Amino acid sequence: MPAITVEDPLVLPRIPAPDPATASDRPVRSVTTAPAGFEGEGFPVYRAFAGVSTADLDPFIHMDQMGEVEYAPGEPKGTSWHPHRGFETVTYIIDGIFDHQDSNGGGGRITNGDTQWMTAGAGILHIERPPEFLVASGGLFHGIQLWVNLPSANKWNNPRYQDLRATEAALVTSPDGGALVRVIAGDVAGHEGPGATFTPMAMVHATVSPGAEVALPWRPDFNALVYVLSGRGTVGAERRPIVSHQLVVFGPGDVLRVAADAEQESRHPNLDVLVLGGQPIREPVVHYGPFVMNSRAEIIEALEDYQAGRLGVIPATEVPHQQPGDIDPRRS
Ligand code: MN
Repeated sequence: MPAITVEDPLVLPRIPAPDPATASDRPVRSVTTAPAGFEGEGFPVYRAFAGVSTADLDPFIHMDQMGEVEYAPGEPKGTSWHPHRGFETVTYIIDGIFDHQDSNGGGGRITNGDTQWMTAGAGILHIERPPEFLVASGGLFHGIQLWVNLPSANKWNNPRYQDLRATEAALVTSPDGGALVRVIAGDVAGHEGPGATFTPMAMVHATVSPGAEVALPWRPDFNALVYVLSGRGTVGAERRPIVSHQLVVFGPGDVLRVAADAEQESRHPNLDVLVLGGQPIREPVVHYGPFVMNSRAEIIEALEDYQAGRLGVIPATEVPHQQPGDIDPRRS
């Protein structure tokens, strides 16, 4: 797992140990297992949020763990051109390369710990695909795509593109250096990540060494989700077991506790988790395919605007030129 790593975490700032007199551990509310599926042109994903109530996820809508997959030559897949409206897509690439291009002139190449934070706002078309040389060679691919909802006041904003490099993440460690904590957005113990967000939220990738534990101070007004990218361990003071592709929803409190089992599989020597939290938006959510709006009428409007080309047009430089396709509500 390249993402971004450091030789010796002890050189990093430490997260202070929580004071048990004032800080309470968040209890585990649920643990669910992500089903496997396919996205875009057929790349394998785990649907991280399947079976979890929208109220528990708010302000997050949807998350796919893309891979981890070892592609044969000719096999890597992406998406075709497709629209979005009403939210943000956050793509975090842990291993491999993804190229992005959008109808607004945004885009770029993200790899090994980089994040693309795309605010679709009022509407955008984009395409996400591996570069041609990687299609030819095949190779390891692993990443996350997270959908962050926008409050109704920001759903009609102009699109925005944030290109967050792996080296920009704030890196911190636990008191004994047993966990590497990468802050991509929000802050952990005052260490701020680079992502700018509309709703206050935090996105963190933590790698916990075998037998180690991390206690993350977490804003009490945020919800709290831990998704296991790989490895095995426990969560909460109650030490509830967790394994790869499981999502933990925590109840109220101040601290998220994640511990790695002493024994890990050789393919994944550490416990890797994505930690998410944000202030719930608490507005009606109507999600249909690539659109996340507040009402059914706004979804119909989005479909009509897309068909009329009002969400953007595919750049003329794209060869072969593609026409806007039909919306598949099962695909994102
Ligand atoms: Mn997309």
